[in-house]
Amino acid sequence: MNKKMLTSDHPVEECGLFGVYGADPAMPLIYQGLFSLQHRGQEGAGIVVSDGKQLSSSKGQGLVSEVFANVSAKKLQGHMGIGHVRYSTTGSTRIQNVQPLVVECVDGLWAVAHNGNLVNASKLRRMYQEAGAIFQTSTDSEVLVHLLADPLYRNRPQRVARALGELSGAFAFLIMTRECVMACRDPNGFRPLSIGKLGDAWVFASETCALKQVGAEYIRDVNPGELVVADATGLHSSTFAEQAAGALSQCVFEMVYFARPDSHVFGMNVHQVRMAYGARLAEEHPVDADIVVAVPDSGNSAALGYSRRSGIPLDFGFIRNHYIGRTFIMPEQDQRSQGVDLKLAVVDEVVQGKRVIVVDDSIVRGTTARRRVMRLREAGAREVHVRISSPPTAHPCFYGIDFPTRDELIAGNQDVDSICAFLGADSLGYISIDGLLSPFPDKQNFCKACFSGEYPVEPGETGCKKALETYSGELPFMNKTERNI
Ligand code: AMP
Repeated sequence: MNKKMLTSDHPVEECGLFGVYGADPAMPLIYQGLFSLQHRGQEGAGIVVSDGKQLSSSKGQGLVSEVFANVSAKKLQGHMGIGHVRYSTTGSTRIQNVQPLVVECVDGLWAVAHNGNLVNASKLRRMYQEAGAIFQTSTDSEVLVHLLADPLYRNRPQRVARALGELSGAFAFLIMTRECVMACRDPNGFRPLSIGKLGDAWVFASETCALKQVGAEYIRDVNPGELVVADATGLHSSTFAEQAAGALSQCVFEMVYFARPDSHVFGMNVHQVRMAYGARLAEEHPVDADIVVAVPDSGNSAALGYSRRSGIPLDFGFIRNHYIGRTFIMPEQDQRSQGVDLKLAVVDEVVQGKRVIVVDDSIVRGTTARRRVMRLREAGAREVHVRISSPPTAHPCFYGIDFPTRDELIAGNQDVDSICAFLGADSLGYISIDGLLSPFPDKQNFCKACFSGEYPVEPGETGCKKALETYSGELPFMNKTERNI
């Protein structure tokens, strides 16, 4: 594998999807669903609904509560719809990139929402551009609408399945026409997507926490390589690609960090998996100490697991300010460091004079972890032992998790001892890769490329993370955040 490519930047789309077929009005359900998927993306949100005749959409930048603050359900009428929350640090905050994308093909309207990262997007995009196609966004997702509109696929049966078959990489898609909602997952099953039932309605969500939020009963996950269609005649399943030969590549980082603890992802409850990580971490890296402290919220479940297994009491050493977004989202290093201070405060009385074990899910650049160790010491902690419930993040992700270049990943260049010295901690312990996979009965079915460097799907020419972005202004006809089509 090409070393240079693995250290290069790459496009990133961490996102959440929610769709409904057969509930009128669909819009309030989609709003609630997106609201509970907000942790999967805070940069932008969008909803497109259909009443069977026309599509209506509303989207904008910011949080779900902000984007839809003044959008009434009356403006978005219909019994089906799809929604999307988007997180991106690509620097590309253009409104055009906010999904669902809506396009008009010769045979009608299509809306598309994507979670994941396509590794052959640049190649497909160039191919269509050379043939004269015009792209309006800098997202990799747009290539799917060009495939759908391509006469090569349009004029054949199973057009959507054929188009999906051309894509490579990580994808969960929700696709809507005037008449139906479709859901699919790539044949490796990188990203999660679940099916639920709410009365007579079908519901699709990236995580089961959103199904629960709207009162839907979890039915099953969309299978890798499966295309599910919900329409007036019910739910229909077909296979657009055989499941990856051998093992699946479900993203283990969903379990480590990304998903919400109350969700079931890839068949397992996220909180319980993280508790098991904490327990395993206590076995792999025991240390004499007085208290265990979680970095909220990402370290909560693992800290509890560590405390229970070690018998060392858990206490609330950090208080999180809930009115600030994820610090990771701040593009500049300085902003990020300040963000840590704004976000977390130390309860001095809890840590003063104590030997503290501080548990978090991951270290990416090391910025926040270092700052936290400093704050604990300033508050009078006698010793600070850092425990991380994932292995060293040493390799970038090409499948949709926002990890920077290998150069920016502290574990990409340094060993555990020097990371510990950088953090200013008394000790540092990461869970092993074996430990990471230990909660799963089907260990071979997980992608752990960010820890091991073994990429299950060739990253291809993913190039620079702004590879698909050549225009930085607004396109006038896309400026409006609301429109009827
Ligand atoms: P750092 O200071 O760069 O080491 O950031 C580590 C913190 O960022 C940890 O507390 C993680 O919970 C969080 N984190 C890890 N991966 C991501 C990600 N892909 N997106 C947002 N936050 C992340």
